[in-house]
Amino acid sequence: EAKLRGRSAIRYFAPGIERQRRRETELHEQLAGALERGEFRLVFQPQVLLADGALIGAEALLRWTDPMGRPVSPTVFVPAAERSGLIRPLGDWVLGQALDWLCRTPRPDRMRVAVNLSARQLDDPQLAERILDQVQRRGLGAERLELEVTESMLMENREACIDSLRQLRAAGVRIAVDDFGTGYSSLNYLRFLPIDVLKIDRSFVKDMADAEDARAIVRSIIDLARNLGLEVVAEGIEDALTASLLLEMGCPLGQGYHFGRPADALPAALAATDTAGRRSKPLGA
Ligand code: C2E
Ligand code: MG
Ligand code: MG
Ligand code: MG
Repeated sequence: EAKLRGRSAIRYFAPGIERQRRRETELHEQLAGALERGEFRLVFQPQVLLADGALIGAEALLRWTDPMGRPVSPTVFVPAAERSGLIRPLGDWVLGQALDWLCRTPRPDRMRVAVNLSARQLDDPQLAERILDQVQRRGLGAERLELEVTESMLMENREACIDSLRQLRAAGVRIAVDDFGTGYSSLNYLRFLPIDVLKIDRSFVKDMADAEDARAIVRSIIDLARNLGLEVVAEGIEDALTASLLLEMGCPLGQGYHFGRPADALPAALAATDTAGRRSKPLGA
């Protein structure tokens, strides 16, 4: 494009590229000491049974406030942490914090925590061993932990990476495919992957109430999951109508602002589950 537009286009784009490069360098420098300085924290978003709003667990989501005190989106700093290599120590920290959180919930033996993995973490041949060690050290059942990976991570990664997931899954850790429907999974390949759960991407869920095509895609993903013997979770549920549509279509589990935003602690109402792990009043009803 720049070539076609000639020299003026080059002059126009060059400062942007330079600025981008400076921002990247700056990000790397700031991220380098961020873990030691305690600038990261985790927030937790409830995952619920759509039928009655009962809490089943939460997804851990990483937050970073830079040295100037500005919050930076994980969609910006996670990829930068991947490029700089920080993601490995950071990923270990996230996992430890998420498991510690699970231990502090009233019923760690019934709740579960979902943790996002990045591609670079999956490159590490010791990953499965290190994760299982963290789980066992806390006396938690492996099935209390769910790891979220994306379709592209599963499709692009070498057999060695899939092997790590296979090891983890064999030990009882649940593997979820995050943002399902936005990647380019080969449906045939899906059969052979070590996975337990499909997470329907928010982009379809948010349009369900208004758009028949979004509903059709969601319905297809739910059917696909059922036919492959996988669980299915919807993300990004923002209203009661969407929640009931999902339930009607056969999706039993969900998360989204309608049930709770990512927060430092679970909402008091949610934490107050009885011994059966059920709430007396459904969330968001
Ligand atoms: P994700 O794993 O797909 O997480 C879901 C994102 O959707 C979160 O954004 C969450 O806050 C947001 N969300 C949840 N419910 C709703 C809703 O009802 N409406 C809307 N509009 N948004 C909703 P967040 O926290 O900004 O995270 C963005 C992405 O950053 C995550 O997408 C994940 O890919 C990545 N990420 C976050 N934490 C970690 C981490 O610890 N490790 C790695 N590797 N990636 C992470
Ligand atoms: Mg996720
Ligand atoms: Mg997601
Ligand atoms: Mg998503």
